[in-house]
Amino acid sequence: MKAKMNKILLVLCLAFCSVLAKNEIYDGHALYQIDLQTAEQGSFFAELEHRLNLDVWAHGGLGDPATVLVPKAARSLLQDGLGAAGIGYRLAVENVKEELDLEEKLLSEAAAKSNRTSRFGLPFDTIHRYAAVDAYLVELASRYPNLVTVVSAGRSFEGRDIKYLKISTTNFQDRSKPIVYMQSLLHAREWVTLPATLYAIEKLVIDVQEQDLLQNIDWIILPIANPDGYEFTHTSSRYWRKNRATGYMIGNWCSGVDLNRNFGFQWSEASSASVCSETFHGSSAFSEPEAAIIRDITLAYGDRIELFLDIHSFGSWMLYGYGDGQLPPNGLIIHMVGVRMAQAIDAVKWPSNRNYVVGNSALLLYPASGTTSDYAQSLGIPLAYTYELPAYRNNYSTLNGFLVDPDFIEQAGFETWQGIKEGARYAADSYRARNKK
Ligand SMILES: [Zn+2]
Repeated sequence: MKAKMNKILLVLCLAFCSVLAKNEIYDGHALYQIDLQTAEQGSFFAELEHRLNLDVWAHGGLGDPATVLVPKAARSLLQDGLGAAGIGYRLAVENVKEELDLEEKLLSEAAAKSNRTSRFGLPFDTIHRYAAVDAYLVELASRYPNLVTVVSAGRSFEGRDIKYLKISTTNFQDRSKPIVYMQSLLHAREWVTLPATLYAIEKLVIDVQEQDLLQNIDWIILPIANPDGYEFTHTSSRYWRKNRATGYMIGNWCSGVDLNRNFGFQWSEASSASVCSETFHGSSAFSEPEAAIIRDITLAYGDRIELFLDIHSFGSWMLYGYGDGQLPPNGLIIHMVGVRMAQAIDAVKWPSNRNYVVGNSALLLYPASGTTSDYAQSLGIPLAYTYELPAYRNNYSTLNGFLVDPDFIEQAGFETWQGIKEGARYAADSYRARNKK
């Protein structure tokens, strides 16, 4: 009896103690919103960010405050620094651990209530782990062999298989069709991006209502671009962004490369050389296996990829290159298609979220180099975007930024899909028109 009791306690602890530990590390971390009114204040804050090694979630601008996650030990240093420089700030969340506990509770309750077990597919009421998505991709290919091929593209730093789907009515043989490429979860903590790719897969394979999207277009969809980081956000550190490369560690400190700074276009020009930074660019372009895998897919299919979507969160932005503020030669077309995609989403989005804003990433937000979509654009892919999906906002939930309320999961998939379809149809027309000449 006692042995059985101990076993129950052990099982409970394995389930519960690790949960405690996961959120415990953020106990006392606070979220600040900072009003940066002038360029001087912006540079002062950038220096403070670097010195205190802060995790900036939004850099602010266009009337929006900067948002920054601050560990307990750095809070007074930050407040003193801002006070001395006359910069206004607001404490948005006193203790983010409470929000993490709430997200976990809401998601696990939603998973327990899920009643779609009789129907094939991954339900849109919770956020699925790597293993479930991985198995789902394999199962899809076996159930729909004439439409879906699953490809193992290579392994992550920790050895996880990175899979993508090829969805095609013509087995990718009809070169008169363009390819639309999409990926999500390059940044580990951006959980709400996964439903966007899973929703697209559902509408292209399981619940097809618009045949033209399959007749006229081939699709490549890679749902989990950074599987090690993603699993780490579930098991150890919810706000982890980078991959899990350990080769750069300083003693026991700091690891991981920002995969969205590791691509071979303008590499290292506007990113960090410090492994402790959230934007650490790695030892060279494509030093990380996860980035090299995406490079290889893009190179293999680049001449047919007309639209390239790298899905991130958060902020309701539709961004295009280049990260140094220079526009590609077809910048006006990229902007116009971006606006059409944004309008398609805005037409069905929840009123509590703001409209999408479309523009060049450096001009709207901040300079960045070595990004995935800039690399795709630089290869000659006509339309490359970084979607930043909305943060969940409504009147009763206090979840912020990267955290996901289960109520928003299906909506995030649905509304993003409206934008993707708009862009995909434009891509089909423009690819055909160009190749007729
Ligand atoms: Zn991101």
